[in-house]
Amino acid sequence: MNSPKRWPYCERPNAVDLNSVLGRLRLTLNRDRLIETARALIAVPSPTGQAGAVLDRAAEMLQSDGLSVSRVAAGHDPAPAVVARMDSGRPGRTLQFDGHLDTVHLPFCPPKLEGDRLCGSGASDMKSGVAAAIEAMRMLRSSGLLTRGAILLTLHDLHEAPWGRGEQLDRMIVEGIVGDAVLLPEPFCEHLPIAGRGAATWKVILRRNGLPVHEVHRPADQPSVIAAGAELVRHLQTLDDQLKHQVHPVAGRPSVFIGQFHSGEIYNQFPQEAMLEGTRRWLPGTDRQAVEAEMRQFFAKLACDHGVEADVEFRLIRDAFSLDLDSPLVTKFQQAYSAVVGRPLPTGPKPFVDDGNSFWALAQIAAITHGPRAGGQHTVDEWVSLEDLERVALIYAVTAWLFCNQETA
Ligand SMILES: [Zn+2]
Repeated sequence: MNSPKRWPYCERPNAVDLNSVLGRLRLTLNRDRLIETARALIAVPSPTGQAGAVLDRAAEMLQSDGLSVSRVAAGHDPAPAVVARMDSGRPGRTLQFDGHLDTVHLPFCPPKLEGDRLCGSGASDMKSGVAAAIEAMRMLRSSGLLTRGAILLTLHDLHEAPWGRGEQLDRMIVEGIVGDAVLLPEPFCEHLPIAGRGAATWKVILRRNGLPVHEVHRPADQPSVIAAGAELVRHLQTLDDQLKHQVHPVAGRPSVFIGQFHSGEIYNQFPQEAMLEGTRRWLPGTDRQAVEAEMRQFFAKLACDHGVEADVEFRLIRDAFSLDLDSPLVTKFQQAYSAVVGRPLPTGPKPFVDDGNSFWALAQIAAITHGPRAGGQHTVDEWVSLEDLERVALIYAVTAWLFCNQETA
């Protein structure tokens, strides 16, 4: 017969337990170590596709922390992903912390402290958030509070579009390198994102036979690619008008958007090509393959009707996202957030797509995007609030304690 479970193994920790755990975790939070970790990650340039060196740096740090670390290429040999595990040695749930260490392709800015702010490439998106997740693992280890289950930390490349589209993480998810739920420390903390649209880019090149020629030599039987493009714009606007009637209470409406339309070189040359590109967004519950098929069919019909050829590219960014509010992750995260901040985090839409969408779309794993107050994402002026980084480390550690210390996996 098992002996009765006692604190800290109880399944439903009461408020006293939680406050005491919070106190113990606060004592183990090391601000200098957290800042140094973020600085060390920012200091290694890592444009998308070339994040190998920073992943090596992260792996070294985690190994010197005594964590079990392995590397998996997951289809991207130049920058194998980092898979680190902290296991209690007892059965329980596994909480995954996941982050990308690649940054957008902009000039490199080294780490720099400015008051409460840490600046530099990836300071906001999302090396500092990753540092907070690492600090949470260190806090759990030195406090001895992870008594069941495990923490899985995954760090990878190929996040930022258009240079990457999450291929490396997708492969890891498909290969089963996942936890029972995921926290992603992307720089977003305004609300708890519970639903978001999927997104893809589309590009169509309308082409007529023959070469570009002076307008006076225009063959009488040749269609105008500009006129076909203009018709396409009109049809896409009609499609967008129809889509606005499908409204999700949180995620909003699906859309088709045109961002570019180019054709011709000079005023009196009869052009050969017209290029249009934009995005298509859809709601949770929509079959993304059906969306792609519909768009391809749409472009093919337009081309046929106007006697032009259409080269179509349709590329998924991320599928749509939904979060089950009754999932243990949400309950435990909100308990942790309330303990640290004093109130639960209000819910709202996910206005962007991120890797949480992939966990949901590919494996139906609950994923919460929550990170530090930060700014300047995708610019050369990235910053993160250091005080807020400490808050994130604390919330991650408390959530892990609440989520993992359960008998059931
Ligand atoms: Zn990011």
